[in-house]
Amino acid sequence: MPLETIRKDTPPRVPPNLDDYDKECATFSWSAARGGLQGLPGGRGLNIAHEAVDRHAASSRATGVALSCVGRDDSVTTVTYAELARSTARFANVLRTLGVGRGDRVVTLLGRCPQLYTVVLGTLKNTSVLCPLFSAFGPDPVAQRMRLSDARVLVTTAELYRRKVAGRRDGLPGLRHVLIVGAGADDLPDTLPYDALMAESDEEFTIPPTSPDDMALLHFTSGTTGTPKGAVHVHEAAVAHYATARYALDLHEGDVFWCTADPGWVTGMSYGVVAPLMHGVTVVVDEGDYDARRWYRILADRRVGVWYTAPTALRMLMRTTPRTGPYDLPASYDLSALRFVASVGEPLNPEAVLWGRDVLGLPVHDNWWQTETGAIMIANFAACEIRPGSMGRPLPGVEAAVLRRGEDGRAEVSGGRVTVVTEPGVEGELALRPGWPSMFRGYLHDERRTAAAFAGGWYLTGDLVRRDADGWYWFVGRADDVIKSAGHLIGPFEVESALMEHPAVAEAGVIGRPDPVAGNIVKAFVTLRPGHEATPETRQELLAFARRRLGPAVAPREIAFDQHLPHTRSGKVMRRLLRARELGLPEGDISTLERTEGSA
Ligand code: ATP
Ligand code: MG
Repeated sequence: MPLETIRKDTPPRVPPNLDDYDKECATFSWSAARGGLQGLPGGRGLNIAHEAVDRHAASSRATGVALSCVGRDDSVTTVTYAELARSTARFANVLRTLGVGRGDRVVTLLGRCPQLYTVVLGTLKNTSVLCPLFSAFGPDPVAQRMRLSDARVLVTTAELYRRKVAGRRDGLPGLRHVLIVGAGADDLPDTLPYDALMAESDEEFTIPPTSPDDMALLHFTSGTTGTPKGAVHVHEAAVAHYATARYALDLHEGDVFWCTADPGWVTGMSYGVVAPLMHGVTVVVDEGDYDARRWYRILADRRVGVWYTAPTALRMLMRTTPRTGPYDLPASYDLSALRFVASVGEPLNPEAVLWGRDVLGLPVHDNWWQTETGAIMIANFAACEIRPGSMGRPLPGVEAAVLRRGEDGRAEVSGGRVTVVTEPGVEGELALRPGWPSMFRGYLHDERRTAAAFAGGWYLTGDLVRRDADGWYWFVGRADDVIKSAGHLIGPFEVESALMEHPAVAEAGVIGRPDPVAGNIVKAFVTLRPGHEATPETRQELLAFARRRLGPAVAPREIAFDQHLPHTRSGKVMRRLLRARELGLPEGDISTLERTEGSA
């Protein structure tokens, strides 16, 4: 339950797009939201790349900066909407010349360089399907996803190709073309030089007719709970990208926007490329990796107004910049342009929301969605109060419900029917009513798992939540992670969150360990902040602290110290790995486990 509600008594500097939640929900319709998009000229359909690039290039925004790319060396390269329209047209022509057409898969394995954006949007212009892979994946995960996605084209660099693909090429017979960005293609057999092909290509390209139902993007899930799944998304998703970025990220014309997620993940693609460009704002792209000073510097120097990041990143910043000080950051940076901060991907512990308020001067707005939903579904809004620890309320146009749980923790399905829980405070599986435009159209080549995700007229998310009496949603845990202990159902997030309120704790991962008496006991793995020692005294103090906060039924019985909790490459704590290691079980699919580059 909330530590303290953060009210929005002082109106935000810029009037929010959504100022009256109830009114907006009552009047919203997806068909009206489609009106915010232009559509292809001549009624030829709907194409994401037209909405994100060409419509701006044909308007007064043509000379506006679309991408502001910060290199590893801090150099800044800018790309205007007009330039992006030309380069994406060139790339679409490159594909056409190679005989790559509608529905063919183009896979990217690139860092966050300007060419990535050209390839993504050029592929969509050509009505081919873009499948982004995170460039830090090792050879096995890359090959596995390329096979699953039926990759026809790969765009990468010489170094990444040599290290991660060349040795597996024989196992990828469907892969016809490998395009090498930058130098080095000459020395690599069976590859083509991207730069030369681009230079020879025409910068005029007419987007072919595109149905809103044409496949556009293929995204693999993070693999937090099991084998990653390839979620199919269509061009119509643009309607939801546009509307949700307006409501949940409060994007306004002229904004400078930074989404820290890599476009290899759905957040980095939907909100790091598509949605902000559709709004015609300036997108900050950081080629470098996380570093507290670097991030504060980018926020300050790029004059970022809207920032979309993740709980793990915020917790890393909190390690160097504690809420109560003392610190020399970020007071030494001018963050005065910042006006809205949002987070996604994992539960956002209340402490992190308050840290934002006290250190950045702005509370963090948590929101919730999944690879499958394609867009933000539940959010805290700029104009609305925040109940720290809650992920907020459904977006206008999104119908959410809590479904009664069965024995296995998931929604109880009986005779094809489910039961919607109407009383507040009851934990159940979060479900969404199908019909929002960015809903995935299935897991590629996996009809069984696709079918299992729907029941009784709902899409079942696999997440457990409760809704309070006022309609705010509270994350309890993933159905797969929830711990049953002595008759109680315990969400690991609640325990982790309580532990993270202790000044010694930077991060925590909580699992259930089988126990003959209780069924399971709660065990916490804790990362300490600098300056705190992993001693028996610290352990005792944390156990007692958690018991005071949570009560003996929910508090951890055991605490282990671990300075390197396993994370997915998209930054989530992998509890299933903590559990497997604890119990000596096979680790399962670890293709998305974060490792140091050298070991990838
Ligand atoms: P996999 O499905 O392969 O196990 P994943 O679910 O982590 O991986 P994503 O689609 O990247 O893959 O992540 C979506 C999930 O992340 C959600 O279902 C939820 O469990 C978690 N999540 C996202 N946002 C939030 C949030 N604001 N609060 C709590 N959990 C969140
Ligand atoms: Mg998932």
